[in-house]
Amino acid sequence: MPDSGEIELRVAEALQQDVGKGMVRIDHELMTKIGAAPGDIVEIIGKRTIGAIAGNSYPADVGLEIIRMDGLTRSNAGTSIGEMITIRKAQPRMASKVVIAPAAKGMRIMASGDIIKRNLMGRAVTRGDVLALVSPRRTKETLREFPGSEDIFREFFEATTPFSLGEIKFTVVSTSPAGLVRINDSTVVEVRPEAVEVMEKKVPDVTYDDVGGLKKEMSKVREMIELPLRHPEIFDRLGIDPPKGILLHGAPGTGKTLLAKAVASESGSNFVAINGPEVMSKFVGEAEKKIREIFEEAAENAPTVIFIDEIDAIAPKREEVTGEVERRVVAQILALMDGLKERGKVIVIGATNRPDALDPALRRPGRFDREIELRVPDRDGRIEILEIHTRAMPLSDDVDINELAETTHGFVGADLAALCREAAMHALRRVLPDIDLQEQRIDPEILEKLFVTSNDFMDSMKS
Ligand code: ADP
Repeated sequence: MPDSGEIELRVAEALQQDVGKGMVRIDHELMTKIGAAPGDIVEIIGKRTIGAIAGNSYPADVGLEIIRMDGLTRSNAGTSIGEMITIRKAQPRMASKVVIAPAAKGMRIMASGDIIKRNLMGRAVTRGDVLALVSPRRTKETLREFPGSEDIFREFFEATTPFSLGEIKFTVVSTSPAGLVRINDSTVVEVRPEAVEVMEKKVPDVTYDDVGGLKKEMSKVREMIELPLRHPEIFDRLGIDPPKGILLHGAPGTGKTLLAKAVASESGSNFVAINGPEVMSKFVGEAEKKIREIFEEAAENAPTVIFIDEIDAIAPKREEVTGEVERRVVAQILALMDGLKERGKVIVIGATNRPDALDPALRRPGRFDREIELRVPDRDGRIEILEIHTRAMPLSDDVDINELAETTHGFVGADLAALCREAAMHALRRVLPDIDLQEQRIDPEILEKLFVTSNDFMDSMKS
């Protein structure tokens, strides 16, 4: 039993608006029990012990013994949704210095230590934490309220050209003093140019926070895939076989690949992908060899999620034109799946937008015997997806996500992601002619203009 200064809570996912803020949400009464108040730092004790800012739970969660946290926080604490963790009030020391580096090889941080410090102000970090840089506020108020926030927009500009438009992730390499420290105004944040190995664990590229509008589907995925990957012993004890194969079906761009990646990273599994059409274009005999190798490697590195995209290209119904190669490849996949000994530790996810075109042999028990349909998102789903893809963008006041969701009927996740990317590029193109690329610093007046506006979205929709 935890002593009186500690409580045990069940981990739950964060709401989209809290992602990237280093905040966890707990019932106020429980917070009081451990002597903490909103704004205090609490220690989260999972496989690692980390710090987070305590926030009040949402009204609907009052009375529930849960703690809501985002995917990076879960990954940092070495926990996952549904697990129990211990929390207690933390007494972090003030950080005099924090050294950070890109979270992955090949990633670059263009930001200065000062900008990162401002982004992390008040947060508690410890060596090995992986954090993401997001715009703290995304409206013009930011410029008024946050002194120096134009740097954040400069950052957005620098980070987006010529690199990606995504979030920037970095690792805390060291802190002084050591242990859990809180970042304040006098902290010096030093940025290393190259990635440094500090995490024992891989950095998740994708977490459940990055998947929008698929709540029900995600909980099925977690039950069917994450549970056996994490706790194969449950299935042993019940004397039932964990699933080996799951079929995700839905229109292109609905998030099948994204969801498969998210469940792999949230369950601490490896992820390998086989592209159906690509593997079939190989020379005779080569497709089979490639697939066999992937299965062998997957078993060696278990737990592993093997993702077969466009599986209908490999395993079409027999009455459709099937060649000798298809027949052999299907037979081999079935044999490899039948032969999987790593109970639950290797799971094959097949993705298709034509489930009816699949060879029925693949859908028999012990093979791809469970199915999850990913539907085209409804309005609420589109809101969630748009929130995800604008998370790191400086949006102007006139952008109304609800309205955008209203006008994008029929858009799937990939369409919405492309729309946001295109709108950001529009904003960049608008200021590009005014920028002297030789200059070290960009004129703040130009940065004032660097907002993604409602018009940027409208124009992108037309093109
Ligand atoms: P599929 O495998 O179903 O064809 P993907 O997972 O490859 O679709 O989607 C492509 C991209 O579109 C993703 O990387 C992501 O940026 C975006 N996307 C698709 N679905 C979603 C979703 N449900 N939530 C957030 N983003 C999504």
